[in-house]
Amino acid sequence: MTAATELSASYAADAVATRAIHAGQEPDPTTGAVVTPIYMTSTFKQDGVLGLRGGHDYSRSINPTRTSFDQQLAAVEGAKYALSFASGLAAIDVLLRSSLKPGDNVLLGDDVYGGTYRLLSKVFVPWGVGLDVVDITDTAAVSAALAAKHYAYVWVETPSNPLLNITDIAATAAVAHAHGTRVAVDNTFASPALQHPLADGADVVVYSTTKYIGGHSDIVGGAIVTNDAELHEQAAFLQNAAGAVPSPFDSWLEIRGLKTLDLRVKRHSANALRIAQWLESQPSSVVERVWYPGLESHPGHAIAARQMHGGFGGVVSVQLAGGAEAAKRFVDHTRIFTLAESLGGVESLIEVPAAMTHASVAGTTLQVPDNLVRISVGIEDADDLIADLDQALKAI
Ligand SMILES: *Cc1c(COP(=O)(O)O)cnc(C)c1O
Repeated sequence: MTAATELSASYAADAVATRAIHAGQEPDPTTGAVVTPIYMTSTFKQDGVLGLRGGHDYSRSINPTRTSFDQQLAAVEGAKYALSFASGLAAIDVLLRSSLKPGDNVLLGDDVYGGTYRLLSKVFVPWGVGLDVVDITDTAAVSAALAAKHYAYVWVETPSNPLLNITDIAATAAVAHAHGTRVAVDNTFASPALQHPLADGADVVVYSTTKYIGGHSDIVGGAIVTNDAELHEQAAFLQNAAGAVPSPFDSWLEIRGLKTLDLRVKRHSANALRIAQWLESQPSSVVERVWYPGLESHPGHAIAARQMHGGFGGVVSVQLAGGAEAAKRFVDHTRIFTLAESLGGVESLIEVPAAMTHASVAGTTLQVPDNLVRISVGIEDADDLIADLDQALKAI
């Protein structure tokens, strides 16, 4: 773990694209293999009792392929520490469980990943953690909530899932820190290619690496990234104590994915902007509203333009004038866009959040409109993607 600190410092002057390819990727000491091997081993030979080679004893505690990814991700984020997990929700669970106790409170945005809300409301609330929901994009509302009650965390997702709401991380951190509250940012949608919450004042960043970091829809994974030694040590302890670690093969796929993150996310963003503009140009009898932070019509556009660097991400949401039925028919008729949950892979996906990813928030303040379609724009040819959406819109 100290190795991560040293590495990120030695690559600190390089751009994200360079760090992503080199940090944590030392050639294998025995063979010189340029690519980090998949260390498919549960245990490590000891040279005499506790004579550990490089600290390696057992793969729940430490595995060289996982260490390589953790160092690479920490360097890309420009952070001291990264810990990777078997899923994004495992990372969120470990962060919160290791740093909260019953009686603590969490202030949550009103548009977040459905699984995050389910974990907080169905697991942490019964455990004794207080949960309040606020329009997190409204810094005055956040400030009022923080003045009324002490919160251990403000939980920010920006851009949020699925409405792509934008929260000003620096302004939120300033308000939160004035009240002794930590700010956690779920940076899954922007990825470290576009947004740097720690530099903007956040205390800790979480990822579902399943999405842009893995980038190929072939793994489920997650990570916690921070400069806070206390948070890191607590999370590392619980990671080992509870064991939700990724497999060496998953770590290897994450290493491979992260190397091309910068290229992919720029293409995802360019394609998404074109699609958002095209959707917005459709008649209002077909398209009611397009949600994309790169559009000037988006309420968070000015903040996103300042806070995100090199693009606005690959997710576009659209509300259809024909209601829930039109949304279902639209996603049924695409040919290139696959009807599936998830996002962030090279291939374009399409889904109806109210019925699919966000079914768990139905009937709560986090409920999403039933005519909403969420599009994860892939890195295919943009003209092909637009032609596909065009024929599907005509078919509804
Ligand atoms: C997918 C997702 C998660 C959960 O991650 P898993 O890897 O599916 O456990 C958390 N936050 C956001 C924003 C997500 O999109």
